[in-house]
Amino acid sequence: MSIRLDGIHFLVTYRCTYACEHCFLWCGAEAESTMTLAQLEGLMGQAAECGIRNVYFEGGEPTLAYPVVLEAARYAQRAGLAWGLVTNCYWATSVEDAMVWLRPLADLEISDLSLSSYAYFVEDADETKLRNAVVAARKLGLSPAVLEVGAPACIEEPRTSPEDVAAVMHKGRAAEKIAPHRASRPPRELVTCPYEDFADPGRAHVGADGELQICQGISAGNVLANGIAAVLDAYDPTARPIIRELLAGGPVALAEAHGHTPLRALYADECHLCYEVRAALRSQGRHPDVLLPSQCYGG
Ligand code: SF4
Ligand code: SF4
Repeated sequence: MSIRLDGIHFLVTYRCTYACEHCFLWCGAEAESTMTLAQLEGLMGQAAECGIRNVYFEGGEPTLAYPVVLEAARYAQRAGLAWGLVTNCYWATSVEDAMVWLRPLADLEISDLSLSSYAYFVEDADETKLRNAVVAARKLGLSPAVLEVGAPACIEEPRTSPEDVAAVMHKGRAAEKIAPHRASRPPRELVTCPYEDFADPGRAHVGADGELQICQGISAGNVLANGIAAVLDAYDPTARPIIRELLAGGPVALAEAHGHTPLRALYADECHLCYEVRAALRSQGRHPDVLLPSQCYGG
């Protein structure tokens, strides 16, 4: 079996100006791993040859490597790939400054600009920056999407209450920092993966480590070592450890197949148990070629 992808999301850097509690990737100021332009261009060239049509530059905070991202965007353009960028707007100190930051994206005809706001989870996050970025983007003729964790974003409408914040998937840092406070479901309920279509994932993520992640911390193979085409050709969700058990019966099946007894009586969601099992297996040195990259497990 092999698969096709529509898109690749480049985790340009795991470094970030924030360290959100809900971050799947344990990003923060201390994270070092950043993709080189050569890696990005090499993978985009392969992606285009594989029929992949779009790429995203995200992270971490991709604008921490902004000149490299812009050069990579030019390459994407030449390769016929639609491209997008996700940013946390830390740079939008005023509307005027935000326009300076965003103008190169407008000039390069970005396909999809996503601006994120994580003020619910980061005490020092400043919502003014998100507003500055949205206003600047619109002045430049861009139509940004606004990502607010759990609160479907409409910047014109005030958010009502913290109860609106939902839909955090509890993996990575979120599994440790947020999930314990939201646990309400017994493990026996967690019998599917509600979020990933392992047979047809549509998109996958890759960072400087080269691991093609079907879900954060679950690698289909290393595309820097083996190439995108070879990894996609070899991918079989019914045979690849971790994925095959999740396909068969979700996090419960994953735990049972590996002799893992759930550590808690209640879980926040499927990802909470899935992450617990995977982190435990990783600490035992099991499935070291699948449970990657280490960044997804806190380093
Ligand atoms: S969720 Fe986004 S903004 Fe927050 S630490 Fe992770 S990469 Fe940075
Ligand atoms: S259940 Fe596991 S594989 Fe599915 S989205 Fe959650 S963490 Fe990823």
